[in-house]
Amino acid sequence: MDKLYLGTNTKMYKTIADTVDFLTRLAANTADLSRDALELFVIPSFTTLGEARQCVPRESITLGAQNMGWEDQGQFTGEISPLMLREVGVEIVEIGHSERRHVLHETDEEENRKVLCALRHGLRPLLCIGETAQQKAQGIADEILRIQLKIGLQGMDPAQADRLMIAYEPVWAIGVSGVPASADYAQEKHAVIKRTLAELLGEDAQVPVLYGGSVNDGNCEELIALPAVDGLFIGRSAWDADRFDGIIRKVLRRLGTDAGKREE
Ligand code: PEP
Repeated sequence: MDKLYLGTNTKMYKTIADTVDFLTRLAANTADLSRDALELFVIPSFTTLGEARQCVPRESITLGAQNMGWEDQGQFTGEISPLMLREVGVEIVEIGHSERRHVLHETDEEENRKVLCALRHGLRPLLCIGETAQQKAQGIADEILRIQLKIGLQGMDPAQADRLMIAYEPVWAIGVSGVPASADYAQEKHAVIKRTLAELLGEDAQVPVLYGGSVNDGNCEELIALPAVDGLFIGRSAWDADRFDGIIRKVLRRLGTDAGKREE
């Protein structure tokens, strides 16, 4: 993969003022880092997206939405359409985060409709997949990941693979009571995901697969060094701009891409 992807979803935590402050600080902190081989993205709440796009340039930080309805318009109270997201300058749409699947009971079929809709509208779907603790204990994690990919990407044109991103986020690893996956476990599951993507979209498909789930300053270097990990999708540890900047720099140092530092 010729690019490194580092991003965060701020969930339902930051107001407009908080988001603008966070983005402005993050853009300033990372201004010396070349974006040639690095994409930083932030996925804040819907209500913040307009101001968020105004406060930092898209070359510095890509913006994503946390969800999307799969129709262009219609009688879908409470839903946000791809046209609305495009209008405010969103490029990425997060689809199927574990909270949407397990708290709000979204299905693989629904995630699939959103993936296809996002691609149809020139948005970049970031499809989140991951097994629960119970599925892990039952020894069916690989099957679950394959099902989530096979249904989630059903009907997708392989020619659009370069717009797709996958986040592997084991449900048991996410959030305050989450335990980060061990390096061996993460590498094994990323390899399963990569094999499945090759099967579905062709051997040449260049789809970044990001790891998420309790990534922090202490484990980011080990995780990013794994051959099948193309980026990190970070929650709590990235919500402070200085801390996120620290993680970004650790990761770049670990990968030996201090060359990523922009020549002044
Ligand atoms: C997440 O919720 O997607 C996530 C990765 O959170 P955390 O890093 O806080 O576990």
